[in-house]
Amino acid sequence: MHILDGSRGEGGGQILRSALSLALVTGQPFRIHSIRAGREKPGLKRQHLAAVLAAQRVGSARVSGAELGSSELVFEPGAIQAGHHRFAVGSAGSASLVLQTVLPALWSAGAPSTVEIEGGTHNPLAPPADFVRDVFLPVLARMGPRVELEIVRYGFFPAGGGLLRATITPAPLQPIELTERGDRTLHRARCLVANLPPVVAARELAIVRREFGWGPGQLEEARVPGPGPGNVLSIELGFEHVRELVSAFGERNRASEFVAQEACAAAQTYLQHDAPVGEHLADQLVLPFALAGGGRFRALPLSLHATTNIELVREWLGARIDVRSDEHGALVRF
Ligand code: AMP
Repeated sequence: MHILDGSRGEGGGQILRSALSLALVTGQPFRIHSIRAGREKPGLKRQHLAAVLAAQRVGSARVSGAELGSSELVFEPGAIQAGHHRFAVGSAGSASLVLQTVLPALWSAGAPSTVEIEGGTHNPLAPPADFVRDVFLPVLARMGPRVELEIVRYGFFPAGGGLLRATITPAPLQPIELTERGDRTLHRARCLVANLPPVVAARELAIVRREFGWGPGQLEEARVPGPGPGNVLSIELGFEHVRELVSAFGERNRASEFVAQEACAAAQTYLQHDAPVGEHLADQLVLPFALAGGGRFRALPLSLHATTNIELVREWLGARIDVRSDEHGALVRF
């Protein structure tokens, strides 16, 4: 039984989700205490509970401590159930994070699966569903497993109400090298607005135009239906070997210009570096690379999320992961 301290390193939900993924693919049980002890409201929130319950279903697991607010959990996985699954976060909590929790088990299962998850598709502090679709999954596909992700309905924080549908074709993971971006192939900004005046999109895209000098062909706005208000501005930067997608979210009392400047600054940070793997992709690639048992990637400076994941995976799999960091970023070798 692996014994984990949830307050370690980044101290948020990620160590729990990564442990669930590892338990499912290795068949090994774990006990975790001090869950999200580093957060303002510690313990399992609805979104984390949804990830636990999804992992329980996919892995026929015996679980104790799966309750809202719980700071301790025991998870003992059984047989993986490929096939059709439907989960609901039950709040605007991130559907993408629930999907990422069960993906490693399903991409290594003996048969294809479809997974539908109701919840938030565009949440601050979580991968927007289009990041998963356009940035994370293409790298995974190069390693073998193919996952088609459809955003059936958008769901913004705080109303939620989104729906993701993923179709997973399992394949053994092959190690890859992701050390260069290659030539730039695309750049565009996309502003999504739900139940807000169209001027929000116009103001945000005007800032992107001013910052990058992009023309109308690179600036897209879309009004999407949804149960509540929502706004996200995403800037997509495509290269031969990788894509990056940075996002900033509108909120009540937050000026559109401020949202746009945040997205532009994140895009500038990526453009000022030359490593292919951005901050968020780095922590999300640790599991697939470690499970592939080889390969390497070059990333922007590693976040605490990434280093926490690396430590967990090292301990769990007994894997050697070599990290060389300098001021430009990190080379991570598995
Ligand atoms: P946690 O804070 O522990 O719940 O983990 C959040 C996860 O969401 C990490 O894997 C982050 O890299 C990821 N994440 C947060 N914000 C973004 C973003 N804007 N784009 C992509 N991934 C994100």
